Amino acid sequence: MISLKEAIKLNSNELNTLRKELIEKIKATKEIGAYIEQLTNSDIDESFAGVPIAIKDNIQVKNWSITSCSKILQGYKAPYNATVINKLIASSLAPFGRTNMDEFAMGSTTESSYYGKTLNPLDHTRVPGGSSGGSAAAVAAGIAIAALGSDTGGSIRQPAAFCGCVGFKPTYGRVSRYGLAAYSSSLDQIGPITQNVEDAAILYDIIAGYDKLDSTSANLDFSPVTPNLNPNRKLKIAVIKNYIDEASKPVRDALNLTIEKLKNAGHDICYKDLANSKYNIAAYYIIATAEASANLSRYDGVRYGNRASADTLGQMYANTRGEGFGVEVQRRMLLGTFVLSSGYYDAYYIKAQKARAFIKREYDEILSEADIILMPVAPSVAYKFGELKNPLSAYLSDIYTIGVNLAGLPAITVPVASDENGLNISAQLIGAAWQEQVVLDAALNLENIVKGN
Ligand code: GLN
Repeated sequence: MISLKEAIKLNSNELNTLRKELIEKIKATKEIGAYIEQLTNSDIDESFAGVPIAIKDNIQVKNWSITSCSKILQGYKAPYNATVINKLIASSLAPFGRTNMDEFAMGSTTESSYYGKTLNPLDHTRVPGGSSGGSAAAVAAGIAIAALGSDTGGSIRQPAAFCGCVGFKPTYGRVSRYGLAAYSSSLDQIGPITQNVEDAAILYDIIAGYDKLDSTSANLDFSPVTPNLNPNRKLKIAVIKNYIDEASKPVRDALNLTIEKLKNAGHDICYKDLANSKYNIAAYYIIATAEASANLSRYDGVRYGNRASADTLGQMYANTRGEGFGVEVQRRMLLGTFVLSSGYYDAYYIKAQKARAFIKREYDEILSEADIILMPVAPSVAYKFGELKNPLSAYLSDIYTIGVNLAGLPAITVPVASDENGLNISAQLIGAAWQEQVVLDAALNLENIVKGN
């Protein structure tokens, strides 16, 4: 597939041809299930002209359906554009197709989508990761030039790693969340999933920046990173040794080999441990579910999507929510309501906030000594369907990605190797807050080393 960098140079005739080709390719690869609806030529006539970008189904495009892949939002049409969509359009890009995801972005495999599963293009018996599994599979299968995803605890980085593309989560507050269906508001961040690092930088530059419509968006000067990309910057890289040692053998071996290559390229490597792995799963699943229970209380059959029939108002709420939400979403709302309830608030929620501060401090301390942190993205390569047998094993698999969201830091995943079955292994690079330039420079550097450039 043509890169975003090249696609931006096409004229409108060439773009029309490209969109038609894409539609044909999407039809031909239907079994992958990356998009939740089949695109037709009439779709593109009605959609905007511009370089087509695939959009996760929790980002609003005016007058398009948006469901967060939940039954409860069936039939709901977005009343306005998310800020990131307005920014795409202002740069002559255009939303093109809604991609599959775990329901309300809760998951790591895209299996909890109301629309059914997405296959990993590298191996159809395996998951594409999640929750932005549709976006990553679309890019990896060559049926999207680039895509937008959202990352609350790894949902951009992990599916990109499972499918073999690049996934970038900017610093919390760097990209507006206005028009993103909220999962956990203090963790959610929109970002690019692309074929390569340079494309990630290009798409990031387009969507980043202060937005007065999002009160958590950072009112900071923003300078684009793409014009200053420097693949030759020499870096001090802190390798998280205990995380690498705990990962599966193929991941461990691939990362150790990558570290050797980085050393040979003249980078300064030091080794650190992160003690916070003891706390980060618990802290994340308390904070994320608490915020989700509040955010998802708005879906009650009155204003949004599906409404179940009932004799009384109370019964209507209960029926709508009981029928509309899937099992995992219900589990998390119950968990979140529990940890916020009186008597448990201090024991769980407040404690999790304290753990969050500790986790952030640990990252910040390492990043005051090093330019970048290197660690795995997930303990293993892409799972087989159904391999994560219960919710706890799924939660535990998020061990390497969620700390970054709790600390609000920018992080990218870059493919570094394939295992013996051709499944992708990526490295995760994490930078200090607002240092997207350093993260993307480091990522470009790593990508060049891996590709032997
Ligand atoms: N797997 C994590 C969860 O289920 C992260 C999901 C995400 O980043 N949206 O919450």
